[in-house]
Amino acid sequence: MIQIKEMPDGNPMIISSVSDFCDSMGFCEFRIKHFLKGIRPPQTKVTVEGTKSHEKEVEYEREHFEFVPLTQEELEDINKDIEFAREHIFTRFPTKIKYGNKNLLMLIIGQADKIARSKGMLIVEETKYPENKEKYLGKFEPYEDQTMQALLYLNSRFTENSSSTPKEWFKIPHKGKAWIINIKDKKTRESIRIFKGIQTKGTEKFLKEKISKFALVVMGKLEPEHHKSIKKCLSCRFLNSCEYKITNSKT
Ligand code: SF4
Repeated sequence: MIQIKEMPDGNPMIISSVSDFCDSMGFCEFRIKHFLKGIRPPQTKVTVEGTKSHEKEVEYEREHFEFVPLTQEELEDINKDIEFAREHIFTRFPTKIKYGNKNLLMLIIGQADKIARSKGMLIVEETKYPENKEKYLGKFEPYEDQTMQALLYLNSRFTENSSSTPKEWFKIPHKGKAWIINIKDKKTRESIRIFKGIQTKGTEKFLKEKISKFALVVMGKLEPEHHKSIKKCLSCRFLNSCEYKITNSKT
């Protein structure tokens, strides 16, 4: 979901889901045009299986762990290690960008797999179940869309009830931010690769640049940049309806 709205004061506002933002800026910027028109690609075997694997993780955690509601004091005590139940926390990333003589507001909303605080570090853990696990064997860094997703969650406010009211969003005090991207075998649910990283000035700049470009493409001030990868287009769920696809080297 990507939408443009006009605020009562005349400023524009972009609302996007984390997944559509990362799909666009991490895989293909032309997807922005499809998402803006409200086009949803059909579910595939891979996406259906991914959802089922996530549900199994939630079920396993529910059966084996008990989460006691946190008090406000515990949340605010940076020395207290805390952990929220899997897929229980919704994220809200509000930001403001200078846009001509106006302010462009942006809100990127999502749902994190796992949020915790340990030794003062705010930690986001995302679990992925790739169709083709072999592509990760020689990989030592996550894909850009995975890093973007983790960074968006790390810099968000949080809500346990999916509230759209900013006053109800809460912060988790911390002294540093870290992410874990856990790549699992979809059959056994065992980890095959675990990428870890901390938020640095470099990753902050990376995210800021992606957000600025996304905003300009959404507002129609900048044309999307084509990745020029036939392989990407052939694997894309928008392939059948996409007028920007390339399917042979002369296209
Ligand atoms: S078919 Fe190709 S150009 Fe079109 S959205 Fe998919 S990856 Fe992008």
